[in-house]
Amino acid sequence: MKTVETRGLVLYNQNFRESDKLVKIFTEKAGKRMFFVKQAKQNKLTPVIQPLVGADFIVTLNEDGLSYIQDYREVQVFPNINQDLFCLAYATYVCALSDAAITDRVNDPHLFQFVVKTLELMEEGLDYEVLTLIFEVQILERFGVSLNFHECAVCHRTDQAFDFSFQYSGVLCPSHYDQDPRRSHLHPNSVYLLNRFKEVRYQELSSIRLNEGLKAELRTFMDGMYDYYVGIELKSKRFIQSLKDWGEVLKTPEDK
Ligand SMILES: [Zn+2]
Repeated sequence: MKTVETRGLVLYNQNFRESDKLVKIFTEKAGKRMFFVKQAKQNKLTPVIQPLVGADFIVTLNEDGLSYIQDYREVQVFPNINQDLFCLAYATYVCALSDAAITDRVNDPHLFQFVVKTLELMEEGLDYEVLTLIFEVQILERFGVSLNFHECAVCHRTDQAFDFSFQYSGVLCPSHYDQDPRRSHLHPNSVYLLNRFKEVRYQELSSIRLNEGLKAELRTFMDGMYDYYVGIELKSKRFIQSLKDWGEVLKTPEDK
């Protein structure tokens, strides 16, 4: 056992026995860990073991069993995200993806910072759908998927209006579209954006604006890509889909 102080983000908690809880925290210094919290309702830790709460946690790490939270300071919450059901659904999905992408106890400070930064930008009011798309593109490598969106898979030209091909796991230029009769038929701007999303830095994010058509096309494509290459089914993802269907029902006829 060792005690460390580390930044951490609560991914979720679950009931354990009668009144205890297990809390999954993505820590900056020790990867994702499961913590045991006794009497979770009357515990001083209650406010900081809720999903989407960040803090400096002082923790005792146990390599063989459950770990424990000793104390905390510098709590970070996301009130704007929590007030918007749609934004919250996307933020929850981003956290679930980071949970699925790496093994527990594996240190990944870069991914930790990326998740927190994505949440901070959602909190600031940047487009959460676009932020989620960027997150999904960048985290693909953690799932062992490396795709090339910037040069034709056949002739390696880089200055063309590309389309994506699942057959080639890469893009094709107009001269080689015919190599894959089942190419994706994406708008060239979508492929351009996917390539930008791979490299984009936080400072540039506020300048990315997408119209609804492109956003919808990228959403559908991303879902197809995750089905094909990653193959995980997350509850939080299904929830986003059901929210969308529900949103449609709520719209007045003039909005449709
Ligand atoms: Zn080509």
